[in-house]
Amino acid sequence: MSSIHNTKLNSILERLSATDAKTVALQFPEGLKRQAWQFADELRKHGYSVIISGSPCWGACDLDVAALNEADILIHYGHAPVDDTKGVIYEYLTQDIIADADGADGEGGRLPTADEFKALLKEAVSLFGADFVAEASDKAAPEKAKVGLVTTIQHVHELPKVAELLKGMNIGGVIAQGGSRTPYAGQILGCSYGAARNTGCGNILFIGTGVFHPTGIALSAGVGGGKDHSRGNSATVVALDPFMKRVQLINTDRLLRQRFAKIEKARSAERFGIIVSKKSGQRREELARRLASLSDKAYLVSLGEITPDSLLNLGFDAYVNTSCPRLAYDDQARYPVPMLSPQEFEIVCGVRGWEDYAIDEFDNV
Ligand code: SF4
Repeated sequence: MSSIHNTKLNSILERLSATDAKTVALQFPEGLKRQAWQFADELRKHGYSVIISGSPCWGACDLDVAALNEADILIHYGHAPVDDTKGVIYEYLTQDIIADADGADGEGGRLPTADEFKALLKEAVSLFGADFVAEASDKAAPEKAKVGLVTTIQHVHELPKVAELLKGMNIGGVIAQGGSRTPYAGQILGCSYGAARNTGCGNILFIGTGVFHPTGIALSAGVGGGKDHSRGNSATVVALDPFMKRVQLINTDRLLRQRFAKIEKARSAERFGIIVSKKSGQRREELARRLASLSDKAYLVSLGEITPDSLLNLGFDAYVNTSCPRLAYDDQARYPVPMLSPQEFEIVCGVRGWEDYAIDEFDNV
């Protein structure tokens, strides 16, 4: 077992010892499931009876609550909590973004050194535009230039370090608390961008991999401190990927074009399936019922795992997704028919204008 997993195991054992649990259920995300038996071995050595959850798991919104019928405690590995379900111990994973001074945690050269990271930051700052760079250069106005800092759970512990580096560039790094699904300051999820919104900054720096999260921030209603921008594109968002050692200015045009095409296609649908998730932290029944009330062509559909086959078998012409927002944006290509977000269905039904387009969030609908 790696040292990070060993540390996490010790933390789990310590927290278990504060309970009177005798039987524990282990739930691991898809990419880590193969590690579960090693944890089971160790827990058994400490006298616990263990059952491993084999169900798919993509986040803390996907708790195997049924396992709690067979165990005193559910240990959910890999994610931070998104709700207050009782009887669960969460152990999320951390990952550094800057190598130690001695290079000890440089992951074989994968992580940037402090100097490399500073160079990336400088490049990121330049993408916020000439006015911002000029503001940051004005030594008479200490840290007047501000940047909102956000990341995903595994890197949140590194944000104060990034803020410190920005301070050295006369820039104030703002780290804010998000909504109820993101308990750590600066943390965002694909269903919750409150930590970006609450910085009140019009310039947001996302640290991490991929463009889904930073694109979501750029399309999230209210991010940017109330600046008046069309289509929810209310902040300038720059993504800094420490592993690829790359920065990029986020452009939402491609996603908007794709979503516009799906909305137009869905207009000719005879019947819409409004999906209500069965997953513990993805169920938005009230929202689904409100959406269903907007059209006589809409039917509520209860689903656990949403797969291309399950949608094909149900036979609707289009679906509206009230479960994990990423399913509509990220996975559309896998589905046989348009999968709309709640806001997109509102556009189809004529109760929202395209100019008010916003990304779907659990905290903000
Ligand atoms: S983005 Fe999706 S998978 Fe992640 S926590 Fe939110 S609902 Fe769950």
